[in-house]
Amino acid sequence: MNRCCPLANVRIVLSHTSHPGNIGATARAMKTMGLSTLYLVNPKSFPDHEADVRASNARDILEQASVVSNLEEALHDTVLTVAMTARLRNLSHRILDARQAAKALLEHASNSPVALVFGRESSGLTTVEISKCQLTVHIPTNPDYSSLNLAAAVQIMAYELRMALTETTLIPPQQPAYQLANFQEIELFYRHLEQAMIDSGFLDPKQPKRLMQRLHRMFARTQLEKEEVNILRGILSALEKHRSA
Ligand code: SAH
Repeated sequence: MNRCCPLANVRIVLSHTSHPGNIGATARAMKTMGLSTLYLVNPKSFPDHEADVRASNARDILEQASVVSNLEEALHDTVLTVAMTARLRNLSHRILDARQAAKALLEHASNSPVALVFGRESSGLTTVEISKCQLTVHIPTNPDYSSLNLAAAVQIMAYELRMALTETTLIPPQQPAYQLANFQEIELFYRHLEQAMIDSGFLDPKQPKRLMQRLHRMFARTQLEKEEVNILRGILSALEKHRSA
């Protein structure tokens, strides 16, 4: 965790990238705007000569990039995660634009890691990947052709973060009055809740329908604090104890 520069706490996460050239162009887009932390979830080809060429003088970002095998690893310790989507699907998540998202991310990035998650070139992010994030962002585009090149989408977000930083550095940083729960704490809460619903007979694991997805969406809207997760898990444990007594 880096307390001095919020941009150092902003992770760019690329999921299952097919074209190594896009990874290189992403590194360049990041470095020009002062971002440095890149996570690659199962890239098709990395390291790769094409990525090096497109990175130009940002190869240091490629050398320091973390290659991980799943999104959970890339989101470890983050307190705010943003899913970047080219399509306005029927997600019923609140959709923010690039500017609003950059401000929200920087509010938390002075104290804790935050992440922006970008999808595959061919098909974008999966519904499961989106449900692991709290916010969804669509960069406003021509509705007839809304799909930006991956690195171009990174460039726009990196620029907005830089502009938001200029605005927020005019205001002295403050300690937040509360601490948001991090990714692992929220994942453990979901697992606890799912098990409690199965044990009580409310959720049939053979026919889960979209119950967990809907609950993810609901809690993503609230941005749970650490204390609140502790309360919710305490309630679940008390009910479980009561049932088995
Ligand atoms: N064909 C894919 C888009 C892939 S573009 C689809 O239809 O979903 C690769 C990635 O760049 C996307 O997954 C998204 O993370 C990002 N991206 C592209 N255009 C975007 C936009 N207008 N708003 C937000 N993210 C965008």
